[in-house]
Amino acid sequence: MKRAAIIGAGPSGFYAAEQLLKAEFEVDLYEALPTPFGLVRFGVAPDHPKIKSVTRIYEKTAQHPAFRFFGGVRFGEHVSRAELLERYHAVVYAYGTMTDNRLGIPGEDRPGSHSATEFVAWYNGHPDHAEHRFDLDAERAVVVGNGNVALDVARMLVLASDELAPTDTADHALEALGAACVTDVVLLGRRGPAEAAFTNPELRELGELARADLLVDPAQLDGAAEPDDTTRRRNVEILRDYAQRTPTGRSHRIQLRFLRSPLEVLGDGEHGRVTGLRVAINRLVTGADGRMRAEPTGEEEIIDCGLVLRSIGYRGVPVAGVPFDERRGLIRNEGGRVCDDDGPCRGEYAVGWIKRGPSGVIGTNKKCSADTVGRLLEDADGGRLGDPMAPDAAAVLEWLGARVPGLVTWEGWQAIDAHERSLGEPAGRPRVKLVRTEQLIQVGRAVSEAMYV
Ligand code: NAP
Repeated sequence: MKRAAIIGAGPSGFYAAEQLLKAEFEVDLYEALPTPFGLVRFGVAPDHPKIKSVTRIYEKTAQHPAFRFFGGVRFGEHVSRAELLERYHAVVYAYGTMTDNRLGIPGEDRPGSHSATEFVAWYNGHPDHAEHRFDLDAERAVVVGNGNVALDVARMLVLASDELAPTDTADHALEALGAACVTDVVLLGRRGPAEAAFTNPELRELGELARADLLVDPAQLDGAAEPDDTTRRRNVEILRDYAQRTPTGRSHRIQLRFLRSPLEVLGDGEHGRVTGLRVAINRLVTGADGRMRAEPTGEEEIIDCGLVLRSIGYRGVPVAGVPFDERRGLIRNEGGRVCDDDGPCRGEYAVGWIKRGPSGVIGTNKKCSADTVGRLLEDADGGRLGDPMAPDAAAVLEWLGARVPGLVTWEGWQAIDAHERSLGEPAGRPRVKLVRTEQLIQVGRAVSEAMYV
């Protein structure tokens, strides 16, 4: 039987597992954290529980007898690329894009200026971000970027405590957001309304918030293009509708401002807290590739604010010697086959955001993984997979058990899951997340150890 290791237990990793199991591979799914589901647990906004219910599909995959989960195993630290290639016919990288893009402007690292990735990970209880502190005592926040993550962040800043209370928002964030002074959020786009990367349901949802008025200056819609793309055309229609609304005097406001690029995060003294954002006012020009580009008009303005969250996309980081395309911030690959200067690397594949970049919704990863697995199976048929020296499932478990102190198996995760759900139940919450790695390992370990000690 052929054996595959998948590195990263987010959506693309689970879809790859599902497809490989169908092709009768044995699948070991490795994850750096003690918990599975990647961005479904740590990215999807807590007020979107329906989106999170996709985990039921992954749970079904995990029931397959040829599937194993190894949580708490850091690729490149606990196990190396060479060690995996010695043990598996195929290694599939599904570890996503772990960092964020930077604006590259003065003042970006001032206190009060953060990346949305950190903020999202913090309110979702990611163990690496549990200690983070955000200055939520400012009245105005600016969120830079016009994608769905920017919408999530803006919404989370204005949801009321009683709206967040029934969610799985991390307890530390519930407390901090409940005490927050932010009443105004400015969403800043460097291009125009027709170029925003929002999807329609998410943009509509922004106009239905209980305690925030949505403000769009009608003048910003003047001359907006009528894009061919259906999503973008509908976005413009939704924004035109918003621009006609009269504010109803709600306690909070979200304002969408287009054609503005950050130039400098302003603050008290050289390293002091954020006091504002200096922005260039842009106009749109058609680039050589036919795409609309933002070009500065030479005019500037200052937006007073005490918090800046940049939400301008994620970026992959090189891991454990896997060939990496620095320019794109992705694993070097051709259609999912990992490549180096000599061509395809035998037995190595990539799926999800680390293969194609941080775009699309969760379901996009299903096709992405299927495409890669299709090529993997072609290679299997053609005798082009890896040739492992020790493809022994029992030996892998022993090896990991001895090497990884906090190894959490699927049964261990189920214990964590049950524990979190039982904590949430009395308050009518889906779960109360454990946010410290030691706590997660403690709950998951006793059950996990029974599997390998
Ligand atoms: P995104 O959709 O790629 O949006 C990134 C935004 O940042 C764009 O508006 C981009 O503007 C802007 N940007 C990039 N560089 C900039 C710069 N230097 N200065 C100013 N603005 C800049 O990324 P995302 O919001 O991180 O979302 C990632 C993916 O996850 C997307 O596919 C998204 O749909 C998905 N997602 C889905 C949901 C959902 O379905 N509910 C929720 C969250 C995320 P330009 O267009 O001008 O480059």
